[in-house]
Amino acid sequence: MPCDALYLHIPFCEQKCPYCDFYSVPARPDRMDAYTGALIRAIETAPFPMGRLDTVYFGGGTPSVMGGKRLAQILEAADRQFGIQSGAEITVECNPHSSLPETFRQLFSAGANRLSFGMQSASDRQLALLGRPHTCADVETAVSQAQQAGFSHISLDLMLATPGQTAGDIQAAVDTCARLGAEHVSAYLLKIEPGTAFAARDVGRLCPDEDGQAALYLTAAESLARAGYRQYEISNFAEDGQIARHNYKYWDCAEYLGVGPSAHSFIQGRRRFFPRRLQAFVENGNPWQLLEDDGPGGDAAEYLMLRARLADGIRWASLRERYPAYDCDALRGRAKPLADAGFLELDGEGLHLTVRGFLVSNAVIENLIG
Ligand code: SF4
Repeated sequence: MPCDALYLHIPFCEQKCPYCDFYSVPARPDRMDAYTGALIRAIETAPFPMGRLDTVYFGGGTPSVMGGKRLAQILEAADRQFGIQSGAEITVECNPHSSLPETFRQLFSAGANRLSFGMQSASDRQLALLGRPHTCADVETAVSQAQQAGFSHISLDLMLATPGQTAGDIQAAVDTCARLGAEHVSAYLLKIEPGTAFAARDVGRLCPDEDGQAALYLTAAESLARAGYRQYEISNFAEDGQIARHNYKYWDCAEYLGVGPSAHSFIQGRRRFFPRRLQAFVENGNPWQLLEDDGPGGDAAEYLMLRARLADGIRWASLRERYPAYDCDALRGRAKPLADAGFLELDGEGLHLTVRGFLVSNAVIENLIG
C-alpha cells in the first residue's frame, strides 16, 4: 500500500520549556516565512511515491505559532502534490498564545480538523514549575476559541510524575479534559532528557521515584477510564472511535513521510531522518539532499515492539500475514511466563500487555522479542 501519512515538523516555539529536547528555535516572522517556502519546496520535490493522504500531522515545536496563513499554504502544497483524501485526519499541535482565534479560523477553512493542545496540567503551580508560559485558564480559553472556530476533535496532552504532583492534581487535570470536551488525551511521564535545563538543574531529584511514578500512572489510567477515555496505547486514551489515526500508524509499523529538520520517516522499508539544522534545510535548494538513512525498518522485531505498545497488542493473524516465516510458537513460549506473571494476556487471537505490563513495558517487550 502506498504511503498515505505525512508528518510536517514545525521547529518554532515562543520559548523553550526547560524539560524539552524536541528540536525548536525561537519563532521569528522572517524565519517562519523562509521555512514555509522551504517546506513547500520540499513537498513539491519529494522523491518518494506517495498515495493520497489519509493523515497529515503538523508537529513541533509549536505549529500554531506559524499562524494559520502559513500552515494553510503548506497544507495546500501537500494537497496539490499528493492529494488529500476526503475524511483525512489533519492535526495541528497548538499552545495557548495571542493570535489563536484567527489561526483557528484559517486552519479550519484550510481543512484542518483536529487540534492537539499542550495542556500538561490543570494546576497553575505545576505549570509554573514546568516552566510553561500559560495558565490552565489560557488553555480553557484556547480550546473554547478552537471549538467556536468549528473544531470538534480536540486532544489534550498531560504530563505525569512532575515534581510534587499529587493524585489530586491528576484527577483535576482529567476532570478538566472531560469538561472541555476533549475526545483524546495523551498522558506522558516526565522524562529528564540529557542536555535540557531540567537535567542541568538536576530536577530529577524532585520527581517521584519509580513507585511514585507507577502510582501516578495508574491514577491517570483509572481516572481517564472513569471519564470515558479508553486506553489504546501506553500513553494514549480516547473516547470510542477517536484514536489518533496518524499516531496509530507509527505503532502499527505503517509507512509515513516526515519533512523538516529532525523529522523522521519510515518509507520504502527504511528509517530516515532530517538533521536538526533549520538553516541548512532552508538554504539548501534541495533539502532532500540532507535526508539521512537510518537503516532498514519494519522487520518482525520492530513490528512486535511497536504493536506491544497498543492495548489491542499483537494479533496472530496480522503477524502471520505480515511475516509468514515468523515463529509464532516461539513467541507464545516467551509470552507464557510473562502472562503467568500478570504482565500480559495471551489467547487464541493474540497477546496484549496489561496495565501492569505497560508500567514496565521496556523490560516486557525485551523479553517478548527474545
Ligand atoms: S512548547 Fe512544546 S516543543 Fe516547544 S519547547 Fe515547550 S515542550 Fe518543547
